[in-house]
Amino acid sequence: MTPFEVFKKEIYYWIEYFGLKEYEVYVEKSAEKDSDAISTAQIQHEASIVMITMYSEFFKERMPFFYIRRYAFHEVAEVLLSTVADLITNKEKMKKEREATHRIIGRLENTLFVDSYKRRFKRIPKAEEHS
Ligand SMILES: [Zn+2]
Repeated sequence: MTPFEVFKKEIYYWIEYFGLKEYEVYVEKSAEKDSDAISTAQIQHEASIVMITMYSEFFKERMPFFYIRRYAFHEVAEVLLSTVADLITNKEKMKKEREATHRIIGRLENTLFVDSYKRRFKRIPKAEEHS
């Protein structure tokens, strides 16, 4: 599988897992880089459309599948938490929301994602192992 195929498959795994059936989810690959992000999720709540983008530039250096899958998980977690984030319109609060959301996603990556990964793929990079 190519990095993009791995990414895409993992996106749909977690969409299914969380039962995010109300969204139409598209996954694309882009060679353009408009920020430092490795991947992004754009969510249109009114239309229930999600566009998840993987920036191919970042995947040139043979990123291990573990990390590619973790980025995929990250973007789906963004979708999961986005209905709350969407309520915030104040710029200052938006910044705080981003920080808080990323703290939650970080916790989910270290627990739910890692546990699931061990079960599904058996091997995880040493640095990501928790006892
Ligand atoms: Zn994020």
